Amino acid sequence: MNPFFRPNIDDMEGYVPGEQPKPSSGITKLNTNENPYPPSQAAIAMLYSIDGEWLRRYPDPYANEFRRAVSDVLDIPVSWVIAGNGSDDILNLVVRACAEADRTVAYPTPTYVLYRTLTEMQPANIVEVPYGEDLRLPIAELVAAKAAITFIASPNSPSGHVVPIADLRELARQVSGVLVIDEAYVDFANETALPLANEFANVIVIRTLSKGYSLAGLRLGFGIAQPSLLAGLFKVKDSYNVDIVSCLVGAAAMRDQDHKNHYVQLVKLSRSEMRLALQNLGFRVWESQTNFLLVQVPPTNSDQMYAEKLYLGLKKLGILVRYFDQPGLDDKLRITIGTEAQNQSLLKMLKILME
Ligand SMILES: *Cc1c(COP(=O)(O)O)cnc(C)c1O
Repeated sequence: MNPFFRPNIDDMEGYVPGEQPKPSSGITKLNTNENPYPPSQAAIAMLYSIDGEWLRRYPDPYANEFRRAVSDVLDIPVSWVIAGNGSDDILNLVVRACAEADRTVAYPTPTYVLYRTLTEMQPANIVEVPYGEDLRLPIAELVAAKAAITFIASPNSPSGHVVPIADLRELARQVSGVLVIDEAYVDFANETALPLANEFANVIVIRTLSKGYSLAGLRLGFGIAQPSLLAGLFKVKDSYNVDIVSCLVGAAAMRDQDHKNHYVQLVKLSRSEMRLALQNLGFRVWESQTNFLLVQVPPTNSDQMYAEKLYLGLKKLGILVRYFDQPGLDDKLRITIGTEAQNQSLLKMLKILME
């Protein structure tokens, strides 16, 4: 207990991000779902064109250059877009604007752990509803939570599945509060829930440039919702939450859809190949509409620590994957799709470790 902190802060765990070794370390990073391919050349050119005068000044508080790019590409009004310092920033804005004592935040689990962390900072109640084995959205239980915020990641992490839009529509219709649809992985999916932002005043769809656009280091994300919902988020955001570099580089990347689509296609191809290859090694592999695969160690293996051992073994060999030391996930690994060479090297090392 530290007398300086609110009890919530004393009690909370704090988010533990995946390991981030230096790019020069030579470690193969398949642990935090970055895109293995380079960002858009147009975005890099924009980065080099930024001069000292731009950096001397404060940036546009609304990141309009970037919002216009989103508006043009997705064909939605600029006033329906809010930009943030990564999509994590937008998630935090929703929590700051809507969560308080005697209000509830609900979400199905397992999912993105940050929903819990952000909520724990507030004196709000948390209701976690487990996904069943079939990964169907537990609509009735979520509605019964009467939450001020309901978070749904779709596609979800770490399972990789997409929640059908019909289920999300039903949830949007029935929940009393805001429904956040976190589409961080939508670029790798076959469907989007974006139309729901148009249909419902309580829905915000959140996206990022970290995964599909290969720009995790830039820190840029955005939310799409009706202006009445965005109004509260604009009030609680930091005045300059998106810096000038992110705004301009992000706008250039957003306008270069061909680049993104090209590499997303490669990742999707590798994803099907890797799914088969990992199944052939005996893993259970969930179908994924993301740039990662969730795998369960071969059911024939009785060693309870086997997933952790594989994770540690791979790490020794210079390959990082994600291991979650929590019930329900501790027999699984989440593996980001890498370049062709990285994927082959992962398979080779797994084979060696499993023999
Ligand atoms: C990666 C991820 C994010 C965070 O994206 P940033 O824009 O980098 O903050 C949000 N939600 C989910 C489900 C993610 O996997």
